[in-house]
Amino acid sequence: EFINTYARHPHYEAPTGDQLNAKSWQTEAPLRMLLNNLHAEVAEDPEQLIVYGGTGQAARNPEALLKIIEKLLELDDDHSLLVQSGKPVGMVRTHPEAPRVLIANSNLVPHWANWEHFEKLKSDGLMMYGQMTAGSWIYIGSQGILQGTYETFVACGEKHFNGDLKHKLLVTGGLGGMGGAQPLAATMAGATFLGVDVDPERIQKRIDTRYIDKMTYDYEEAKKWVLEAKNNGEAVSIGLVGDIGNVLEKLLHDNVIPEILTDQTSAHDPIHGYVPHDLSLKEAKALRQSNATLYKEKSLKSMARHVGFMLEMMKRGSKTFDYGNNLREFAYQGGEKNAFDFKGFVPEYIRPLFCEGKGPFRWAALSGDPEDIYVTDKALIEAFPENKHMIHWLEEAKEKIAFQGLPCRICWLGMGEREKAGLIFNELVKSGKVKAPIVIGRDHLDCGSVASPYRETEGMKDGSDAVSDWPLLNLMSNTAGGATWVSFHHGGGVGMGYSQHAGMVVLVDGTDRAERCIRRVLHNDPAMGVFRHVDAGYEEAIKTGTDFSLII
Ligand code: NAD
Repeated sequence: EFINTYARHPHYEAPTGDQLNAKSWQTEAPLRMLLNNLHAEVAEDPEQLIVYGGTGQAARNPEALLKIIEKLLELDDDHSLLVQSGKPVGMVRTHPEAPRVLIANSNLVPHWANWEHFEKLKSDGLMMYGQMTAGSWIYIGSQGILQGTYETFVACGEKHFNGDLKHKLLVTGGLGGMGGAQPLAATMAGATFLGVDVDPERIQKRIDTRYIDKMTYDYEEAKKWVLEAKNNGEAVSIGLVGDIGNVLEKLLHDNVIPEILTDQTSAHDPIHGYVPHDLSLKEAKALRQSNATLYKEKSLKSMARHVGFMLEMMKRGSKTFDYGNNLREFAYQGGEKNAFDFKGFVPEYIRPLFCEGKGPFRWAALSGDPEDIYVTDKALIEAFPENKHMIHWLEEAKEKIAFQGLPCRICWLGMGEREKAGLIFNELVKSGKVKAPIVIGRDHLDCGSVASPYRETEGMKDGSDAVSDWPLLNLMSNTAGGATWVSFHHGGGVGMGYSQHAGMVVLVDGTDRAERCIRRVLHNDPAMGVFRHVDAGYEEAIKTGTDFSLII
């Protein structure tokens, strides 16, 4: 019945409630999360099946999507579905504790791993770009990135401003799927915020979801608002429509130097993402179609100019960092030879957390009932009374975050904590304290799941930045451990040729089977981060490894 209704009227919204459409929760869960990824409140462009991050898709095309849904509805506990770059290509014989879906997205043999080759394959209908959590069906809207961004801004405040961002101005570009988390993260951390995006619709979306406070098309008005708010120590967020490079140029001219400067435009994709400063949105769209080579040239030059202004801001005192979009590399290619003078956010602020196996643990309530998330929030607050930082986050999140699609939560947890949380959630499902099963997953941006030399593995202590054996081992561990679906992608975050990464989602349905899978997967997954950083020689990781008997 579900498939008939869906085929007549494709609607991207996860089914909710405690009744199954598929044969078991093991397949109902990926079905709901796939459709949730495309929910109008979650996805940036559901019509194109684009979830976030430039062109990150959930499925290759509408036919492939329909077929995935059909197969998920058919699948039993002794088979697993294979998905190749967003298209279902076969079923293999497995067993009840194996992953139900095995996903590989956007992978290319290294010599061919560039946007040009990928685009050719894409236009021939042979591939799609999976980003990180788009093609692996665990994107949860802007909240997903919100806590990571909040952690980063707080860590930046602690490192440079004695832990206090009041009276501090943070400026950035890009308010899209991921970048849209910046305004709320900044104000939660106490700063005054100015975000610039060339596309007014993107800013409007952040207003609708309460991630940003005010919006204007007028530079002078935005400047007046932020300077007033900064002087009064108000944590207010302003969205300004415009090109980020042009706005930085004006701010420099007016000697408005933010304390913190970063960027989350979709710079990882110089053709379908970044908009050159001398084109309107409409002109950009047309030029992409008519002359992609010229577009790329303009885009690289524009990024070089943009980074040039960032370097000048840095010289004048802004704490400046790259926020994982590969802006420096493309600016370098566009002619800014000093582009790498500022560092990425991981070596600056996040790596110490990775050494403790900490990363973006997230979960979604398949019931669709927000109350289920509040029950899990409460359970975590009771289970980790010593973790004041996490408790502050959960309380703020409950108050300030509007859910998008299925209710969900993110909260960075480390070695030991993830397994403990997973087992608590399993008890909540078993005892009926939540109304339906939960899924637990994470971003591919995690401690032991990604090789990305301009982002997660930039500047590794032993020089092993580009070694991608680690995400492959992560994939294998999570497959062997019994995650409910696993994925291996290429090019997430920083684009084709620059990263390889693995994902996992595990079902929490209150069964003994789930308990066994949780004990394995939620132990092994953060342990991979500890192994990776122990091997690279980080003291903090060696300490965590010793505490959890992980050193061999
Ligand atoms: P997105 O495509 O949804 O949004 C990008 C936004 O940038 C769009 O709204 C677009 O209008 C805007 N933009 C493009 N060129 C511009 C310009 N010249 N001036 C002003 N605005 C411009 O992408 P997203 O999901 O928000 O991701 C942003 C970037 O961050 C991507 O490169 C992504 O790979 C990267 N990323 C970072 C992290 C992280 O943890 N730091 C995680 C995931 C993705």
